[in-house]
Amino acid sequence: MNTKYIFVTGGVVSSLGKGIISASIGKLLLARGYKVTIQKFDPYINIDPGTLNPYEHGECYVTEDGMETDLDLGHYERFTGIRTTRDNSITTGRIYKTVIDRERHGDYLGKTIQVVPHITDEIKRRMLREEATFDFVITEVGGTIGDIESAPFMEAIRQLRWELGRNAVCVHLTYVPYLKAADELKTKPTQHSVKELQSMGIQPDILVLRTERHLDDTMRLKVASFCNVDLECVVQSEDMPSIYEVPVNMQRQGLDAAILRKIGIPVGETPAMKPWHDFLEKQRNASREVHIGLVGKYDLQDAYKSIRESLNLAGIYNDVKTKIHFVNSQDLTTDNVAAQLNGMAGIIICPGFGQRGIEGKIIAAEYTRSHDIPTFGICLGMQMMVIEFARNVLGYKDATSRESLTPDPSPKGEGSDYHCVIDLMEEQKNITQMGGTMRLGAYDCELKEGSKTFEAYSQAKLSTPLALRRGVGGEAVISERHRHRYEFNNQYRDEYEAAGMKCVGINPDADLVEIVEIPEKRWYIGTQFHPEYSSTVLHPHPLFMSFIKACIDGKS
Ligand code: GLN
Repeated sequence: MNTKYIFVTGGVVSSLGKGIISASIGKLLLARGYKVTIQKFDPYINIDPGTLNPYEHGECYVTEDGMETDLDLGHYERFTGIRTTRDNSITTGRIYKTVIDRERHGDYLGKTIQVVPHITDEIKRRMLREEATFDFVITEVGGTIGDIESAPFMEAIRQLRWELGRNAVCVHLTYVPYLKAADELKTKPTQHSVKELQSMGIQPDILVLRTERHLDDTMRLKVASFCNVDLECVVQSEDMPSIYEVPVNMQRQGLDAAILRKIGIPVGETPAMKPWHDFLEKQRNASREVHIGLVGKYDLQDAYKSIRESLNLAGIYNDVKTKIHFVNSQDLTTDNVAAQLNGMAGIIICPGFGQRGIEGKIIAAEYTRSHDIPTFGICLGMQMMVIEFARNVLGYKDATSRESLTPDPSPKGEGSDYHCVIDLMEEQKNITQMGGTMRLGAYDCELKEGSKTFEAYSQAKLSTPLALRRGVGGEAVISERHRHRYEFNNQYRDEYEAAGMKCVGINPDADLVEIVEIPEKRWYIGTQFHPEYSSTVLHPHPLFMSFIKACIDGKS
């Protein structure tokens, strides 16, 4: 079949959950056996979100092929299990860069380069994804209708709608607020938002109304008739106890069926989605709680999105509800750490960049190591575990990371004798540009047999994407995604091993330490990579599974 296109836009306010709706549509079409991809177009000028502070747009998600992307790609992967690539995350900056590079190259000699048609043509080219074969390409556009920045994206969608005819549908997500004083739900903002879309030449085919209260049929009919949309194409997305209930709720209201009908594809039977329902059943039944401390510096839900979701998913598969408590590492001191981590069955030491808050992470690592509390250090978190061990076990009181001495190596001065147990990677030494230059994307890692980490990965069913595989020489190999510039300093490897912190995961090509663990502890593991990026709803990550299990075991 010809590729079909679904455009997802949002109106009224931001943060309505367009990513969740796009991911849900993807999931429902996938369940019908279609080949699907979901992509995100963001209207900002950064080439990618890699240089953004998490306070701007939340966590930066990383694809297997090493693209730093919007966190919505994490939802797409978790919901569908389909791996995204660098082609699935586009920004205005990338569009302009391509066009400007082409102009400098002389590809448009003699022409005036303009937003229409040059920028819009490049947007259309990327929206069409003609280089690959998909049954459905779902394109989510970031921002809210009416933003100046997203106008070229809207113009591209308008043109594509016209050119593609029935092969394209537009789904518009809006908000229906409830006014307490009037005890009424209000559809006016939706009407305005659709008018705005229509003024750009786009008639939405389907409306998804986000609402905190149930909308009755009269309400839906009102929206349908004001907005020129069929009644069956007005779907409501009420607040759900979990985002993973959304695909099922959308299916119940026939969102996928409405899309297929608009496109002219026979709807057929509704897929059962048994594994998904089994998961939801487990989620509803999990009543026992496990309390996990998230030691990080960004007090914002979205900053550690994939870690939070990985913990939740692993909890559900272990039949527990994961209660996550954010612990601000900047406030941690040796005097208050016991109180701050009190009641936690385990802690995560979060990834991060820069100097701020790292001493608190080291204090947390020392406390949990000496009290044998399950601890999972991720990227910067692993690096802090390594520094703590150097300071308090190896006796290098000045142990640190090169990152903390950059750009100002004072007070000891350049070439000083700090023990940089975490150092700059060789390949990073001559890099001066910040964006997109870290060690990014998936790399292989060989596991030491018999380690806790090896045991954890061995638990993943062999058929699943996260299971370990055997290398040519029979080695146990996994592949995980990275995003960092600094690395365990191999000069100290023997000392660590001798003192009880084992290097149990090694990148075979560069001989880099990817995983450390202290086998004598209940669960004390640090990974240089980010396992959270590869957890999905149907395949929870083996390390998170094993971590949560250790946290529960300790409680009973
Ligand atoms: N800042 C550290 C580095 O660049 C860790 C990065 C991270 O936690 N993602 O190596």
